[in-house]
Amino acid sequence: MSAPALAASRHRVVVVGGGFGGLFAARRLKRAPVEVTLVDRSANHVFQPMLYQCATGIVPEATIAPPLRGIFRRHRHVSVLLAEVTGFDLEGRTVRARSPAGGELVLPFDSLIVAAGMQTSYFGHDEFAAYAPGLKTIDDARTVGQRVFGAFEVAEASHDPEERRAWLTFAIVGAGPSGVELAGQIRQAARQTLRREYRHIDPTECRVLLFDGGKEPLATFGDHLSGRAAQTLESMGVELRMGSIATALDGRGLDVRSGDGTVTRYEARTIVWTAGVAASPLGRMLAAATGVSTDRAGRVEVLPDCTLPGRPEVFVIGDMMSLDGLPGVAEVAMQSGMHAARTIRRRLAGRETGRFRYVDMGSMAFVGKRRAVVDFRGLKLSGFFGWLMWLAVHLTFLTGFSNRLAALLSWSLALTGSRRGRIFRTSDLERPPEPVTTRRTRSV
Ligand SMILES: Cc1cc2nc3c(=O)[nH]c(=O)nc-3n(C[C@H](O)[C@H](O)[C@H](O)COP(=O)(O)OP(=O)(O)OC[C@H]3O[C@@H](n4cnc5c(N)ncnc54)[C@H](O)[C@@H]3O)c2cc1C
Repeated sequence: MSAPALAASRHRVVVVGGGFGGLFAARRLKRAPVEVTLVDRSANHVFQPMLYQCATGIVPEATIAPPLRGIFRRHRHVSVLLAEVTGFDLEGRTVRARSPAGGELVLPFDSLIVAAGMQTSYFGHDEFAAYAPGLKTIDDARTVGQRVFGAFEVAEASHDPEERRAWLTFAIVGAGPSGVELAGQIRQAARQTLRREYRHIDPTECRVLLFDGGKEPLATFGDHLSGRAAQTLESMGVELRMGSIATALDGRGLDVRSGDGTVTRYEARTIVWTAGVAASPLGRMLAAATGVSTDRAGRVEVLPDCTLPGRPEVFVIGDMMSLDGLPGVAEVAMQSGMHAARTIRRRLAGRETGRFRYVDMGSMAFVGKRRAVVDFRGLKLSGFFGWLMWLAVHLTFLTGFSNRLAALLSWSLALTGSRRGRIFRTSDLERPPEPVTTRRTRSV
């Protein structure tokens, strides 16, 4: 596809979202004759694959969430704007946003890159959110951490064995990478770090239950690696409940339906939801404005070059885009961000542009102490060698040298069992009132 050369100076690019997609797009526009405005409602770029490490006290928040302003301090042509994008006028080529002070901002653009990612989805059961936080933002990681570590405190203070048991039972719904990694780390924290810290409970007796509707954890990694992950999790004491769908949640536990239709009640005071995501509502707004379709998760069906039909100046990238069945992973976001930037640069230079070609770099998940599963372009690694590869990749993609150093130090301390950070107080353990009815069935 070719496009006429655009005005070569002060071409205005608005990038919505400073996650992996937006970050890589803005960085790749470094030497282009453009003015970039990077808008995000958060002041930080969040390295989401390590949120579970934040939740389980391995790394501090600052290590995985560097400030966007700091990242772009030397990129004179990039302005970072803290604001929530609320809509688009594609005809008038403007983005509407709400400033932190509440006022409306109108941002004009010549090219627009939308990379607002996904948010937790409870599949139509939004009421679950009050009882089971997701793991998508730094706030989520903080909440999950407070609930997990706080549960050991309540158990320590309780004299009722049933209550203690319920507080020491952790239910994680969704056995994708986030659920698997979180489950493994709760068990590891209990077995290593917390083991000697309590006087009335034995933290190693905690139960970590991992529920999923599929037949194995990490289903997208294929049978071999899923099997290895399941073995590792079980050896760490994680109880796998595959083929199970959570049908009701409240502040005291959850009801789970298995394949044969039986509904079982689990008493678990801490529940985390890692089962589903849906695209940012901005996706549906763009779809409505241009008449394009969205898939079931609300992702926008883009053209092969990541633009919208009839709107070559509007790119939708990363988790928000639906293209060739590509998965919602960091690599897709980074590469599609770089593609959008390259396309803008080439258009400005009056050169040919082409479709987005994704190079699959595989996937990986950290299962437990020095054990990970990795599928890297056909090379399947698990155990210690998988962990070494996991380590190398995560260090490469963490933003900033000091953050890499900090992560290495935190990993050494946490993985030898000596230290995990925790900050919470009694109010962090409060739950909303109980719902009026839940079905009571077989209890476990
Ligand atoms: C817990 C977890 C673990 C993961 N593990 C892995 C993994 O191991 N490997 C892997 O490859 N991928 C993993 N992923 C997926 C990966 O993180 C995503 O694919 C990637 O972050 C997508 O990048 P993105 O730029 O499309 O969106 P995001 O990184 O989600 O960024 C979206 C940005 O948009 C901003 N935003 C949203 N709405 C608005 C608005 N209205 N106004 C302004 N700003 C807005 C957000 O604040 C955010 O900064 C994981 C994700 C999670 C949540």
